[in-house]
Amino acid sequence: MDDRELITVERQEKRRKQELILKSVIALLILIAIFLSVILVREAVIPEISARLEERGRAKEDAQGGGSPADSAEPETAVQTNASAGLAQAEFMVSQYDYDGAVRYLQAQPEYASSQEMQDAVTHYQQLKDTCSSYPLDQITHVFFHTMIRDTAKAFDGDEDEGGYNQVMTTMSEFAAIMESLYEKGYVMVSLHDMCTVNEDGTVSRGEILLPPGRTPFVLSQDDVSYYHYMDGDGFAQKLVLDENGDVKNSYLEDDGSVSVGDYDLVPWIDTFVKAHPDFAYHGHKGVIALTGYEGILGYRTDEVYRTKEESRVTKYQRAFFDAHPDFDEAAWQNEVNQAKAVADAMKAEGWEFASHTWGHISPSDRGLESTMTDTERWLNNVGSIVGDTDIIIFAFGADIGGWEPYTSDNELFRYFKEKGFSIFCNVDSSRCWVQFGDTFMRQGRRNLDGYRMYYNPEMVEDLFDVDSVWDSARPEPVPEM
Ligand SMILES: [Zn+2]
Repeated sequence: MDDRELITVERQEKRRKQELILKSVIALLILIAIFLSVILVREAVIPEISARLEERGRAKEDAQGGGSPADSAEPETAVQTNASAGLAQAEFMVSQYDYDGAVRYLQAQPEYASSQEMQDAVTHYQQLKDTCSSYPLDQITHVFFHTMIRDTAKAFDGDEDEGGYNQVMTTMSEFAAIMESLYEKGYVMVSLHDMCTVNEDGTVSRGEILLPPGRTPFVLSQDDVSYYHYMDGDGFAQKLVLDENGDVKNSYLEDDGSVSVGDYDLVPWIDTFVKAHPDFAYHGHKGVIALTGYEGILGYRTDEVYRTKEESRVTKYQRAFFDAHPDFDEAAWQNEVNQAKAVADAMKAEGWEFASHTWGHISPSDRGLESTMTDTERWLNNVGSIVGDTDIIIFAFGADIGGWEPYTSDNELFRYFKEKGFSIFCNVDSSRCWVQFGDTFMRQGRRNLDGYRMYYNPEMVEDLFDVDSVWDSARPEPVPEM
């Protein structure tokens, strides 16, 4: 090897080394770049995404809790995030047709003045509202149910109560299919208080329900949500309870003695359905629960008789209850009252309302004024004290305190109920809609969607659903005649 060759080899080696160094440097730079971008993503982007998700969740919670405005004390760096949370909340309100509420909500946000997006949304919501029309109040239908049958094998086991269950009850599968049909057809739950306003001076004025084309309001109610003693062991839920998230659910006693918690009756089923379909609940309003009091409410033994155990008033069912629970003392009774109140409060926060169904499930006209007064005082003391004031009375047995003509001040029962704060009166009526307004009251007829109606008059419900596709085949046929 001569010198020239040696130099060439040395040069080639030097070049190779230089290339190696260059490649290493490039590789190092790439690694650093990757490392930096990972840090950047973790530090900046991910927190922003999770903050947005959190805000969205909070906005939803706010909306369900009545739409309290977002916390305005948050730092200014969060303005962008607040704006999207605010918009999500407004969108939720709009999905429940509360256009004015959504506009008011956005305009109250601190970032509204500087947010073009929010201002555009307000313009859009006003345009949406303009497409709505005021639904004729006297064309609003009202449907009602009793407690749902969860286990048809137990309800229809041939014992003495079977016939009654078959006539006036609805099974969970039927109820779910009926509600899904209503939703498909564009029905939207409204409150009796959307239909009218009861003013401070006792007068009642017409409400206004604004809905887009294709949407039809209806009122939903459920009677006797007491989980009466006689229903024990017949395939019904035990009571309404709060689960670990504070949601209203049912407890159900299984055959093996364990207690399961789920959507086993109307209230939790509707709550779950509205979470998935917010547009089923007008302004978030749900149904009205018509309560008696004589065996407590919502599955809790809250009546005074369970505290006093006054011999002359204890029924055979209550006697059996005391025999089965010898330790049911005043503290246990107080505990029932506290739990019932917690459930009732959670229901009201979710859009439910309560009505009197009379304390003793009575027909006031049959009983007369004096007996009605005793009954009403018992309702107010034992039920109203837990669920709060109400101005709605939903008569038991589909009874009423007058004929189809408007109530007058000559009607002593009407005068008495009015004095006690009741201004909205519901009976049972077979026509699709029956609504009557007076200066100081609103009346509405209700339609029973139960075994009897479905079996004997399927044509009477065809505006709502098709009986053939809803009917629970576990229901014995024929449904007994009344
Ligand atoms: Zn009833």
